[in-house]
Amino acid sequence: MNIILLGPPGAGKGTQAQYLVEDRNMIQLSTGDMLREAKDSGTEMGRKVAEVMARGDLVTDDIVIGLIREKLEGDKKGGFIFDGFPRTLAQADALDDLLQEQGERLDAVIELQVDDEALVSRITARATCAGCGEVFNDITKPIPEDGKCPKCGATEFKRRADDNEESLRQRLMEYYKKTSPLIGYYYAKGKLARVDAMGEIDEVRARIAGVLDA
Ligand code: AMP
Repeated sequence: MNIILLGPPGAGKGTQAQYLVEDRNMIQLSTGDMLREAKDSGTEMGRKVAEVMARGDLVTDDIVIGLIREKLEGDKKGGFIFDGFPRTLAQADALDDLLQEQGERLDAVIELQVDDEALVSRITARATCAGCGEVFNDITKPIPEDGKCPKCGATEFKRRADDNEESLRQRLMEYYKKTSPLIGYYYAKGKLARVDAMGEIDEVRARIAGVLDA
């Protein structure tokens, strides 16, 4: 099964994708994670994208489509979760073509619906494990008191450079201008499922499971 998790920054796409990896042996393809890796690698491409990401703007379609193309060719396990991709209609069209080339199809697009007011506090409270990428939140899922990641034991945690209020405003603007039209696009294709993404993480996890099992 191949699915897209769609929603604004802070909707919980990364967190829920991690559960789908655990629960269904799926492969998480996060273009944000891939771009952060490229940024840290010190390559020419990394330098270029770092500035764009820090501002909260979108990286060009060519770059992210290229990153996704590379990942679709290997073992497909329980299917792909596209997390943070596609973010434009051009990317959505490219994804259709790429899946077709692989003899795959898109099964569902899950729109994680959240109140905009909740996003600022979710994002500015966010931290991730430097070892395995597990996502924590100072309020809803704090880093354990012993300072160790319960998943991998690492003791270092990172906060993203673009998880500040100013970048978030720009990321939200990009979302509403360029990404939210995908909601109508996938609705028209009969692929859209809307999920209430407010409330406890496990409640949202159960709602997504309900949609995928239906
Ligand atoms: P994310 O981790 O999904 O919040 O992405 C962080 C940043 O990476 C975004 O604000 C964009 O600058 C960039 N980015 C991630 N995915 C894409 C994409 N599909 N298209 C364009 N830019 C992206």
